[in-house]
Amino acid sequence: MSPTREEIQELKSTLSITVVAKRLGLSIERGRFRCFFPERHAHGDRTPSVSINEEKGYFKCFVCNDVKGDVISLVQIALGVPFLEAVKWLKGDAPSIKRDTQQINIKKDIQNEKAEEHPKFFKEKILFDFLNLLSPIPLNKPAAWWLASRHIYKPVWDKVLLRLIDDYHRVSRELLAIHSLEDLQFAGLFNSQGNLRYGRHPLIIPYVDEQRRPFFFQARAIDKNVTPKELNFQGTIPFPYNKESLDGKEGTIYLCEGAIDTLTLLGHGFSAVGIPGANSFKPEWVKMFKNKKVILCLDNDVAGRAAEERITALFKEAGLETRSFGLLPEGEDINSWFSSH
Ligand SMILES: [Zn+2]
Repeated sequence: MSPTREEIQELKSTLSITVVAKRLGLSIERGRFRCFFPERHAHGDRTPSVSINEEKGYFKCFVCNDVKGDVISLVQIALGVPFLEAVKWLKGDAPSIKRDTQQINIKKDIQNEKAEEHPKFFKEKILFDFLNLLSPIPLNKPAAWWLASRHIYKPVWDKVLLRLIDDYHRVSRELLAIHSLEDLQFAGLFNSQGNLRYGRHPLIIPYVDEQRRPFFFQARAIDKNVTPKELNFQGTIPFPYNKESLDGKEGTIYLCEGAIDTLTLLGHGFSAVGIPGANSFKPEWVKMFKNKKVILCLDNDVAGRAAEERITALFKEAGLETRSFGLLPEGEDINSWFSSH
């Protein structure tokens, strides 16, 4: 006999997904286990990529879009059985995997696991989930107009994976469905009042590595009355913006202040990378510019000129030469310069 909707609801709400996972023979370390498809992962998923949210009864692989779901999907994937089989398996095993009997132990387990959680790894997962919920830039809408006014068009924004918080409440709700508020706050996506940040900064500019994995982002306001114009994701900036251009091949590269200036240059066919602010260039980044002739085009203001001096010295120390773009009149940045030429 088919289970009723109520029975299924009851299974989902009473069973502990952590205990079910253990019962399925999955080895859980710090709230995660290795993916069922290790061949899709670097190093065979040696660092487990599937996270479990005990509270929401949900699991999700960081890499595989099809490895996610509730306790029933978990059984389906792990045992390779259809839905009804999975329900039957769960019902048969249910008495020993009820939440109430195990809850105290599980809570303790989870708390211990959290304390030793590797914060960087954990943040990467949350960042990945966040970006997955966002929309590409829709054409003929304010964000597209705003970008076009900066000479940034669809081929560029598609290439660099620009994203938009098109529906703040939906994104907020869906994040809360897969992560606890506490985790989201810890990762810096939610504020202490329990709200998703970036309500007024809907344009999301991800910093991705060569494999298109996001490690950082900047959120940009497109309403000119909003200050500050940009908010940074909490945490360290791992590498310059548009790192992809630092490919080790011979060539010229422009180093700009801000992701938007970088995109304007890309839109004009130049090779460019960006730093989020004049002072954010890190000495250890110099070696990423191997084989590149670097042209500095920081803003022509007090901060920009000081940064240019500092960065020039860092490159010189490493035996690399830089040139200054040198065309920007006082107070102008790349964008205002292109707009007037
Ligand atoms: Zn996977």
